[in-house]
Amino acid sequence: MSCEHETIKMARRTKQVAGETFKFSAEVCAACGAEFWNLDLEREFGTWLAKQKADRFKVQKVKISAAVYKTFSDYSLYVGKGDVSFVLRAALNVYLQKIARGVTPEMVEAIEELHAKEKGTGFLEKGVKERAFRLNGRLYVDLESFARLAEASMAHAASEILARVAVALKRHTETVKNELEYVLRAS
Ligand SMILES: [Zn+2]
Repeated sequence: MSCEHETIKMARRTKQVAGETFKFSAEVCAACGAEFWNLDLEREFGTWLAKQKADRFKVQKVKISAAVYKTFSDYSLYVGKGDVSFVLRAALNVYLQKIARGVTPEMVEAIEELHAKEKGTGFLEKGVKERAFRLNGRLYVDLESFARLAEASMAHAASEILARVAVALKRHTETVKNELEYVLRAS
């Protein structure tokens, strides 16, 4: 039987992010320990994240094929961002914030289909290198929870996401392109 969370009390809690500890007070259920975040706590967490050193939020050993990498570096030239990590971050951001959240389930399906067609081809498998790049705090947290749900490492989750976004870009999926441009313009 699931808990009805009848008795709520305030408790001190901690949350680990990239080896740093966020300490906070939250409403928790006295019976099952479930934790409830309100907008103020979300904001407090956001402020804390923004204060952490940027080089904390690195993702390492992300396997990226030569063609996937080239898709993003070509795209970074196209949008006038010299640094390809801008585009890699934007791609993760768009996938985690928009695509994976199922805002448009048809898009998830379309991308999975495109990705399935490319499986085993040189586009995804040739010249695979392990790369590292920086995320920001928010993106790090989003990728971490996505990876946890998918029962994968953060590196593996990032690699799978980037492969999908690259395939969508290669196939000129306009919605994905538009979302990427929107995020890049804002960053
Ligand atoms: Zn409960």
